[in-house]
Amino acid sequence: MRLFQAHPKMSGLKIEGPCRVVAHNQTVSVSAVCTLRVENNQLLLLSKAQECLLKARSLQVTGSSARGLAIRLSDGRVRHYRGNIILSLDKSGALAAINQVSPRDYLLSVVGSESLPDFPLEALKAQAVLTQTRLARYKPGDYLTDTTNDEAYLGADYERPLVRQAVMKVWGQKLCFGGRPIEIFYHAACAGSTSDARLFGGKNYPQYYQSVVCNHCRKSPFWQTKKTILPIDSLGQEFNALPQIGLTDKAGRPLVLSFPNGHSISGYSFWLRLGQKSGWDKVPGTRFTLKAERMGKVFLSSTGAGHGVGMCQWGAAELARQGKDYKQILAYYFPKCRLSF
Ligand SMILES: [Zn+2]
Repeated sequence: MRLFQAHPKMSGLKIEGPCRVVAHNQTVSVSAVCTLRVENNQLLLLSKAQECLLKARSLQVTGSSARGLAIRLSDGRVRHYRGNIILSLDKSGALAAINQVSPRDYLLSVVGSESLPDFPLEALKAQAVLTQTRLARYKPGDYLTDTTNDEAYLGADYERPLVRQAVMKVWGQKLCFGGRPIEIFYHAACAGSTSDARLFGGKNYPQYYQSVVCNHCRKSPFWQTKKTILPIDSLGQEFNALPQIGLTDKAGRPLVLSFPNGHSISGYSFWLRLGQKSGWDKVPGTRFTLKAERMGKVFLSSTGAGHGVGMCQWGAAELARQGKDYKQILAYYFPKCRLSF
């Protein structure tokens, strides 16, 4: 899988020993912090004293500690990764990192990265089934990324004992429709009801998603309406006029917005642009409204967090606290789908 996709154009990082670095037929054992830097289209591995330990276009690094390899990113954060990491240069000359990791270690990290520390076991099991379902759709040779385009994968630091227990209990299980693993969707909190996949627009959306009522996420911070005022031009040049919400789905999420010039955009696409331009905390949920304010500003309100399709994670955690097991949780949010062992 490709790492650090949220850090484009990386030109260097630090690796912390103990680890083993292999390039061509050379192997270097590293016990302290080393710097890896891109220079003249080569990767340079430098000791703390800036002595060049290795120079190559591609390196394989494997951590020797119990938590795997420690990597210090340019923002100072340290992440630990299991398996091997292949470091090389991409087409633009930036640093590229591929993590070769077992499905089990991948699953442990993703379920931990995508859940809150207090989520109960049965909610974590439901999450683990969903991630395995997504993996079952990949073909050998396909790459995963570490961002929410796939699912967050933040390394071994997010493995927790309860996550480990959940992954072991549901190992090999996936969610299917018509005998095939489904395209999975989940979100932080739906704030009242989930949406079917029509929300994503287009004609080829998965038919096996169904809107379900969910008040189980009532205790989440996203149940309350989030209100914000933004300058219209902060949304980007394409939004120099304010669109009006047209059709909404039965969960109250806008499906279509229309501009005064006759153009239209799907509610989901508009929401993505809002997040990308203004930050995801401004309009965290896709059940939003908007109206013009004075002085070129727009008033926006929203409930929920995330797109609202599929499993509501806060709702799943509450159902687990009420005694529901992962099968009941998955059946609640995916009523048309079946668990496959
Ligand atoms: Zn919910």
